[in-house]
Amino acid sequence: MDWKSDAKRVSIDELHMNFALLRITLGLAMGVAAAQSAFLGRSAEPASAPAKEWNMKDKVTKTPEEWQKQLTPEQFRVLRKKGTERAFTGPLWNNHEAGVYRCAGCGLELFSSEHKFESGTGWPSFYQPLQPKHIATQEDNSLFSRRTEVHCARCGGHLGHVFEDGPKPTGLRYCMNSAALTFQKK
Ligand code: FE
Repeated sequence: MDWKSDAKRVSIDELHMNFALLRITLGLAMGVAAAQSAFLGRSAEPASAPAKEWNMKDKVTKTPEEWQKQLTPEQFRVLRKKGTERAFTGPLWNNHEAGVYRCAGCGLELFSSEHKFESGTGWPSFYQPLQPKHIATQEDNSLFSRRTEVHCARCGGHLGHVFEDGPKPTGLRYCMNSAALTFQKK
C-alpha cells in the first residue's frame, strides 16, 4: 500500500468520526429540547392551540393600485385617502342589527353592535372597539383642529376619529365612516 491510499483511508476514518460526533451532538440537542419542554410543562405540539390572535407580523400591506382594484371608489377614498363620507348617507349609521363590524379593507373585527350608540351625528358611533389592539390612533391636525384619527391596526385603513364626548362607561365616541366598515349580522 502506498502513501496515497494510506492518506485516503485516514481521511475516510476522519469522516466516519465526524459523522459519529455529529450524531452525538444532535442527540444531545434533542434531549435538551425534550427536557426543556418537560420542565416547562408543555409538549412541543400543544394539544389545544389557543384561538388564533392577530399580531403585528400579520400586517396587511398592499399597493394603492391593489387597494383600488379591491375596494369601491368610496371605500378607497375613505380608507386609503382618509376621506369622510357625508353625514347620514352611509348604510350603517342607522343600523340596529346585532353583529360585528369589520374593516372593509382587511376584514379585521373592529366593533360590536353591543357598543354602538345613537350619537345623532349621522355616522356609526361606538363607545369602545371590540379589541383595543385591533385599532390604532394618530394625532390629526388637519382642518384647523386637533383631532385623533383612528385606523385599522392591521391594514392601516382610515376609519374615522375618536372624541372624548362619548357616553359611559368610556366617555369616548368612535365616530366611524360606514364606508370603512362591513357589517356581519350575528
Ligand atoms: Fe384593516
